[in-house]
Amino acid sequence: MLSGMGVAGRIVMGTVIRLESEQLSDMEKYLENTNEKSILITPELSVKDVIRLGNYPIVGFVTEKGGFNSHLAILARKMELTAVIGVPGCMDFIESGDTVLLDGIKGNLVVNPRSSTIEHYMKIKQKLENDQSRINSYAEMETMTLDGYKLALMGNVDDVEDVERVVQSGGEGVGLFRTENLFARRENLPTEDEQFEIYLQAAKTMGGKTIVVRTLDAGGDHRIHYLDQEKEENPFLGCRGIRFSLKRPDIFKTQCRAILRASAYGRFRIILPMLCSLAEFRRAKNVISLIKEELDTLKIPYDRDIQLGVMVETPAAAWMADMFAREADFISIGTNDLTQYTVAADRGNKQIAYLYSNYHPAVLRSIRYTIQCCKKEGITVSICGEAASDSKLLPLFLLFGVDELSVSPSLILKTRQQINQLNREKLRGILEALDNLGSIEETESCIDAFLALS
Ligand code: PEP
Ligand code: MG
Repeated sequence: MLSGMGVAGRIVMGTVIRLESEQLSDMEKYLENTNEKSILITPELSVKDVIRLGNYPIVGFVTEKGGFNSHLAILARKMELTAVIGVPGCMDFIESGDTVLLDGIKGNLVVNPRSSTIEHYMKIKQKLENDQSRINSYAEMETMTLDGYKLALMGNVDDVEDVERVVQSGGEGVGLFRTENLFARRENLPTEDEQFEIYLQAAKTMGGKTIVVRTLDAGGDHRIHYLDQEKEENPFLGCRGIRFSLKRPDIFKTQCRAILRASAYGRFRIILPMLCSLAEFRRAKNVISLIKEELDTLKIPYDRDIQLGVMVETPAAAWMADMFAREADFISIGTNDLTQYTVAADRGNKQIAYLYSNYHPAVLRSIRYTIQCCKKEGITVSICGEAASDSKLLPLFLLFGVDELSVSPSLILKTRQQINQLNREKLRGILEALDNLGSIEETESCIDAFLALS
């Protein structure tokens, strides 16, 4: 048995297609005869590769590299693929044509399994399917703990098709519309009208529920191939998110205009990624004010009360949360990046995955402080990183007082089930304990102990 990180999906069995890195650019050639039982084994996959995989009926993939909260893992969850990533040596042990049993939950894979192993896994699979039908009954329920704490449970999307999945999964809105794909999947910049149509369609699908659109977060691992983005030594510390938008106000303006126009037909909010200073926020806000003036002059309708929010995903933003909370209409905490930048560990680098943890006390302190600042100013605060669906962290976020959580559509119901079974009063002691925890491991065992008692 080989092991890695189970990042998505369930238990599946299939036939291996093994591709070397250099074969990926030609994947069309090798994946021609795939079926819904094919499992791809490869050293590493980019976000773009996974999007291309969507054209083939494969059921899952295994890679040697990657991290739990990498965009690769997020995409696998969204595409409902079963994925185990960060499996050292998988390329050495597995051949094309082998049969593989893949457990996307625990992160195990068994090559050419014996019939007793298959039987064992099929029993677990059956149990998971039974659990899933219980979870489905949460679709019509509101999200509320046993002691009556209500919050909005929303979905993260990166395309207009996902919006429908949020509705089907009982999501109470779109808490994060990542817009990079709207740009990356094309050969040139989308026009204002093209973007407007996408947001309009999203609004129609959501039928009056909130949609938080994040302006383009280009840079980092999101290179938009037709844009003239300089090659950088450290792209995650480079011209990413709002930095890129302020450098290319033409692209930023076009996108904001499209969102503003769509806001006449739905309930939109705009959120800015990767902020590190109030100056960036004020400059972006100023650009948006100018667009509003233009729209007024042209008598083009838009929502005059549209909210402008800040993503807290850098330590700078977390420590300035008091100031941001005074100027922004709402805040959403992007724990994927906040963790990466707080512990200075690349979210996609398996070697240092032991350090990249949402349970790191410094990360939890940043989240807690940010929420406190928002509460003080009376603005909405949400969490939209992958931590928002972590069953052990949910009690903490609820005790901190978060108003909204936004998770992958495939995890909305499971997250609601977990929240609705929690009693905050029984867990309140965690808050005090947290102040004295010095490591990831201590945090995890402390939460485990409280959950076992509750
Ligand atoms: C985050 O950083 O937590 C986040 C939600 O944004 P992304 O994962 O797209 O970087
Ligand atoms: Mg981010």
